[in-house]
Amino acid sequence: MTLRGRLTSAFLVVVLGPVLLGSVFVALTVGTVNRERAVERLDHAETTVGTAVGAICRQLQAAADAVAVVPPENRAAVADQLVTRGLATEINVSDPDQLIMGRAKASVNRSGGNCTSPTRTPTSAISATAYAQGISVTATHRIDTAFLDRLSAASGTTVTLGETRIPGQKREMPPEPGQPLTLVLTATPAAEAPFQSLLLPLIVLVTAVLAVVAARWLARSTTRPLGDLAWAADRVANGDLDTRVPIPRPDELGRLAGTFNRMTRELQSYVQALTASRDQLRRHLAILGDTLSSTHDLDRILPVILRTAMTATGARAGLILLMEDGRLAARHGDGLTGDWAGDLSQRRLTPGRGILGAVAATGSPLRGTTGADPDEPACESYLAVPICAPPGEDTDQGPGILGVLALYDRLGGPGFEDNDLRTVRTFAGQAGVAVHNVRVHEEAQRLSLTDPLTGLWNYRYLREVLGREVERANRFGRTLTVLVLDLDHFKEVNDTYGHTAGDQVLGEFARRIRIGLREVDVAFRQGGEEFVVLLPETDAYGGMIVAERLGTAVRERPVPVDPRRPGLDDRIAISVSIGIAVFPEHGETAQQVLDAADEALYAAKHAGRDTYRLAERVSGVVPEGHLDAARQAPGR
Ligand code: GH3
Ligand code: MG
Ligand code: MG
Repeated sequence: MTLRGRLTSAFLVVVLGPVLLGSVFVALTVGTVNRERAVERLDHAETTVGTAVGAICRQLQAAADAVAVVPPENRAAVADQLVTRGLATEINVSDPDQLIMGRAKASVNRSGGNCTSPTRTPTSAISATAYAQGISVTATHRIDTAFLDRLSAASGTTVTLGETRIPGQKREMPPEPGQPLTLVLTATPAAEAPFQSLLLPLIVLVTAVLAVVAARWLARSTTRPLGDLAWAADRVANGDLDTRVPIPRPDELGRLAGTFNRMTRELQSYVQALTASRDQLRRHLAILGDTLSSTHDLDRILPVILRTAMTATGARAGLILLMEDGRLAARHGDGLTGDWAGDLSQRRLTPGRGILGAVAATGSPLRGTTGADPDEPACESYLAVPICAPPGEDTDQGPGILGVLALYDRLGGPGFEDNDLRTVRTFAGQAGVAVHNVRVHEEAQRLSLTDPLTGLWNYRYLREVLGREVERANRFGRTLTVLVLDLDHFKEVNDTYGHTAGDQVLGEFARRIRIGLREVDVAFRQGGEEFVVLLPETDAYGGMIVAERLGTAVRERPVPVDPRRPGLDDRIAISVSIGIAVFPEHGETAQQVLDAADEALYAAKHAGRDTYRLAERVSGVVPEGHLDAARQAPGR
C-alpha cells in the first residue's frame, strides 16, 4: 500500500469514524425521542378525545333530560329545538305505548354506543337516555367521518373506530362509562420521516464524500512533494546532477526540498571540481607517460614527474634531489622561493642531515607542518619521500635509494595527508624507475663504446674522442699525439697456442698499455691486435717516450698462458710495433693524424718490428717516395 493510500485511509478513519458514530447516535436518539414524543402525544390525545367524547355524552344526557322533564305536548318542539341547535343528531321519545317521536328515527345503530353502559359492539353513534313519567328519552349523536376528523384535529393523532391500517404508534381507547366508543389513536410519524429516513443518511453521505475528497486532497498534497523528492533522488542517483525539486511551501517538506537542492548543487560543484582535477591529472599523466617512453633525459623526465605529483596533491612547490657521489644533488625545483628560487645545479645536501637528508639516509618518508630545516626550502608544510630503485636493484649509494622527492605547502589544507603520501610514493616510484632506467641506459651506452675482451674503449669511441680532442687542441693551440700499436707476428701466437691463448695475450697487452699511461691519456682497441693511444697535451718527444715505455713493458715480460700442447713454453714472448703522429705537425684533421700514425707504424714494421717510428709526413705535404716504400713493407 502506498504512502498516499495509507494517509488517505488514516484521514478517513479520523474523519469518517466520528461522523458515522455520531450519525448512528443521532439516529438512535431521534428514534427514541420520536417514540417518547408519540407516547406523549398519545397520552395527550387520549385525554383530549376522552374529554371530548365525555362532553358529548354529558351534552346528550342534558338534552335527553331536558326533553324528558317538559310536558308531553312540548317534547317534540323541545327535541326539535335541541337537534336544531346541534346538541344531538336526533332525540327519540318512547312511551309504554311504543309511541316513537322525534327526528330521523332509527337512522343510526345505537346499540353499544350508550354513554352509561357501553359494550364493545361496533357502533356508529353514541346516545344518552333519560327516564320520566313512564317514558324514556334517548339523545343520539352520530359518529361519522367528520366527527372523527374533528377529534383527530383536536387530539393531533388519527382517531379511528376499531382496527386501522394507518402506520404509526397506536393506542386503543376501550369503551368505558362516559366514553362508550371503541377508539384507536394513531400517532403518525409523518413529520419526522424526512429527517430520519432521508436527511440524516444524506448528510452522512455528503460528509463521507467530502471526507473522501478532503482525505485524498490532503494525502495528495502531503505525498506529492515526497514523490517529487523521490523522483529527484532517483535521477541524482542515476547521475543527473542538474535535477532540482520545486519548493512547494515553507513547511518541513519545503525545507527538505531546499536542503535536497542545496545538497545536489554542492555535490554537482564538488563533482565538477573533481572532474576538472581528474582531467588535469590525466593530462599530466599522459605527458608523463609520453615523456617516460620517449626519452632517457632526466632533465626532461624529472620536471614532468614533479609537476604531476604537485598537481595530484595540490602542492605549491616541489623539489627532486638525486644521489651523486654520496651527496644529495638538487636536480629540479618547481615553485620554490627564496634561496632555492634560482639555479639549483650547485646545491648539495648531506644524507643524514635535515629533513631531506634524513629521508635519503633512512629511506622512510617524512611529513610535517612546522618549518623545514634552514638549509632546505622554506615552507609551512612538507612531504618528502625517498626515490627508490625498482625492487632488487641496489645502487652504489646504498639499499636502492636514488634520491628524494619533496613537496611543499599543500594548497587548501593545513598539511599533507595519508592520501597524498600514497600518491607521492607512486610518483617517487615512477621517478625511481626512470632514474634507474637512465642509469642502466648510460651503462649500456658505455658498454657499447668499450671492447668486451680488453675493457678498452672501442673504435667507435676512438672516432668520437679523437675528433673532439683534435678540435680542442686546435682551438687552444695545443698538441696531441696519437700512437698506433700492432702486436708483431700475432698470427703465429694464434696458430701455435690457439685463439684462447691469443685472447689472453691481447688482454694482458691491453692491461700493460693501461698501466703505462697517465690519467688523461686514453687507450682504444682499434680492432684485432691493433690499438690506439691518445696523448693529449703531448708533443712528438713525449709520444716517443711513451712508445719506448710501452715497447719495453711488452717486451720485457713474456705473457703467461696455458700451453695447449706438451713441449710448448707456458710463456709467450711478444713485442709491439708503434707508429707515432702529432697534431698539428702530421695532420690537420683527426683522420689525417690517424693515417700519418698508421704510416709510421708501417715504417716501424718495415724497420724490423719491436720498435717505433715517428711520422715523417708534414701536414699538407706528403713525402711520396717514403710512403710508397712504407706501404710495400713486409708484414703489412
Ligand atoms: P705483423 O707483425 O706483420 O703484424 O704480423 P701479424 O701476424 O701480427 O699480422 P696479421 O695482420 O697478419 O695477423 C693478425 C692476426 O691477429 C690475425 C688474427 O688471427 C689475429 N687476431 C685478430 N683479432 C684477434 C682476436 O681478437 N683474438 C685473437 N686470438 N686473435 C686475433
Ligand atoms: Mg700484427
Ligand atoms: Mg695487424
